Amino acid sequence: SQPAYAAPQPQGWYDEGTLVAVLTTQPLDRTLDYRAPEGGVAAGAFVQVPLGPRQVIGVVWGKGQGGFDLKKARAITRILDVAPMREEMQDFLIRAGEYTLTPLPTMLRLATRAPGLSDPPSMRKVYGLGPATPDRMTEARTRVLAVLEDFGGAGFTLKELAEAAEVSASVIKGMVAQDAVLELEAPRDTAYPRLDPSLPGKPLTDSQTRAADQLRTAIQGGTYGTTLLRGVTGSGKTEVYLEAVAACLAKGRQALVLLPEIALSAEFLTRVEQRFGAKPVEWHSGVTMTERRRAWKMIGQGGAQLVVGARSALFLPFRDLGLIVVDEEHDSSYKQEDGALYNARDMSVLRASLAGAQVVLASATPSLETWVNAKAGKYARIDMTDRFGAAVLPEMRAIDMRAEALSPGRWISPTLQQAVRDRMAAGEQALLFLNRRGYAPVTICRACGHQVQCDHCDARMVEHRFLKRLVCHQCGESKPMPTECPSCKVEGKLSAVGPGVERLTEEAAEVFPEARIATLSSDLFGSARALKQAVGVIANGGADIVVGTQLVAKGHNFPLLTLVGVIDADLGLHGSDMRAAERTFQLMRQVSGRAGRADRPGQALLQTCQPDHPVIRAILSGAEEDFWNAEAEGRAAAGMPPFGRMAGIILSAEKEDVAMAAGVALARADQPLRLAGAVVYGPALAPIARVRGWHRVRMLVKAPKGVALQRALGEWIAGVRLPKGLRLSVDVDPQSF
Ligand code: ADP
Ligand code: ZN
Repeated sequence: SQPAYAAPQPQGWYDEGTLVAVLTTQPLDRTLDYRAPEGGVAAGAFVQVPLGPRQVIGVVWGKGQGGFDLKKARAITRILDVAPMREEMQDFLIRAGEYTLTPLPTMLRLATRAPGLSDPPSMRKVYGLGPATPDRMTEARTRVLAVLEDFGGAGFTLKELAEAAEVSASVIKGMVAQDAVLELEAPRDTAYPRLDPSLPGKPLTDSQTRAADQLRTAIQGGTYGTTLLRGVTGSGKTEVYLEAVAACLAKGRQALVLLPEIALSAEFLTRVEQRFGAKPVEWHSGVTMTERRRAWKMIGQGGAQLVVGARSALFLPFRDLGLIVVDEEHDSSYKQEDGALYNARDMSVLRASLAGAQVVLASATPSLETWVNAKAGKYARIDMTDRFGAAVLPEMRAIDMRAEALSPGRWISPTLQQAVRDRMAAGEQALLFLNRRGYAPVTICRACGHQVQCDHCDARMVEHRFLKRLVCHQCGESKPMPTECPSCKVEGKLSAVGPGVERLTEEAAEVFPEARIATLSSDLFGSARALKQAVGVIANGGADIVVGTQLVAKGHNFPLLTLVGVIDADLGLHGSDMRAAERTFQLMRQVSGRAGRADRPGQALLQTCQPDHPVIRAILSGAEEDFWNAEAEGRAAAGMPPFGRMAGIILSAEKEDVAMAAGVALARADQPLRLAGAVVYGPALAPIARVRGWHRVRMLVKAPKGVALQRALGEWIAGVRLPKGLRLSVDVDPQSF
């Protein structure tokens, strides 16, 4: 049946007793009617309403729909002390939900991420680190202290702290009694310190000035528009878009800067503070609950001017949003891969178009989609081709691995070894880049050939020697490293095949015994704080060689780093994925850009067995326009995005035949798709056919550009009765295809 959500009716007022429609975050396909409480209620108000025996959060969405005995309508319990949702936000949730085929209640959940939204203020005691150490350290107490330390010392309610530390409330109360934990009044929600856009920024170069002027003019217009700010690493994109932020704040509007979560560094916040005299509001998973509550409320009331955040910040209740910057716009972490499957970059454009705001998409290596949109004139485009000041772009060269003498189980070629030694002799740093976590990608038994598999996924377990465990990179399950083969039971024959960063670190330590080596890989750090600390040590020259995964490709600035050695430049080239070339190009250019930022010229050496591969050649020559043109041609010829439309369907069930049967039924019922001009492919087993015990079957729907894909998909899926226990997810504009 069709969803029955009332039409949003913003900016209205409902008198006491009137029937209003409330949208809740519960998975219902309609709004529910309630009576307005004493004193009436504003359209868009956040409210608490009874639903069965429970109380849930909702938003006054519109006029009640009635059609039942009005005397039976229940009343709104309480109006929450936050600004009502604006019309623009309601529109945004509806449109984003339609685009991604996500039910409206799920969209609303994204917009009500303020923790404890419904807690009355009187209930808000928060807990922080105390001055004393506990008399007796237990594991539970250690966990409580670790959680508090990781989140900057304070800011949890009792329930939140107990959950985060996996302890009972009594453990915390016990620690309060000993002064190891402090019980505090929750800070009142106060406005954030004002940012002053009239403070002078750094003097800009000519090309920076031109870029900043263009953005400023766009912002002064006060209407929607999107600009691609394309500039090589170190060209000063950040300096330029901070000028756009200044122009936006000077107009009295709010600004949002989105960064890949991993790049949300203290360094960036400091830069903002230097520019505007105060720090921005942060929004990401490492922010305390108390701060998040305050941020959410203040953003809605206008008591916060600039937010720097991860993708979920796009759903914050801005009162007057004038600018969204999406830095590293090509980054795949902008795509949310569970629940609502949305790309924060694309949704930024939607949100800005509804808010009359400007969007700046910044990148050294834009996504093909953005590049095509700029080329077609849908987006304005600014190019910055030189690095700031005396800094020059790194010299890029291939090391032909076919010509290097290297024993098996070794990956650092003699040529690369020499280059690293030269850098160390000059007091500089080298980065050895390998985008593979763990010790080795494959663990195989030399007696019987068995490869250790995850019990729940169709995936190999990966040895993590540092943790002394085998880990599944699909579901995260791990088990102790066995000494005997699980299949033939022979002892001591399990051996590593291929390199991971941990193994590369081992090799580097042997080859460069005198070097101080730091390994940066996400699973080597227990917390964001530990990672930040390691990054700080490297930035201050505390390491000669950095061995790292993708983690180092983003956002961190290491002034002494002048050499990047890519261990396996061919690694990403050979997937069946249409984006393989694009991704490899972006990652290689980006990681190479880490070399030589300041006054020291840098060099990037790419170890490859195919120095003549077109992608490798494009990476080396930097002939980007040619690369993108060739990519675009290939996609256009195949009718692939962004020249055609595509959606991925994943059907999962505990039994493979259930998922497959559902796929076959869908394939047979494809008439609504065919009528609309779309074609469905599959069903076929998904590339990883089992994850967490669920069997997965995949289908792809492809359509020419003008087709109303979402409507056709909606009709198609609604026309098939799917069995119980089947999960269906639709991914419009999938990341891989
Ligand atoms: P990008 O974001 O393009 O990689 P950044 O904005 O981070 O570039 O600039 C690279 C480095 O150059 C930074 O350390 C930045 O402070 C410096 N820089 C860029 N432009 C200027 C300028 N006009 N004056 C002083 N320093 C600058
Ligand atoms: Zn697994």
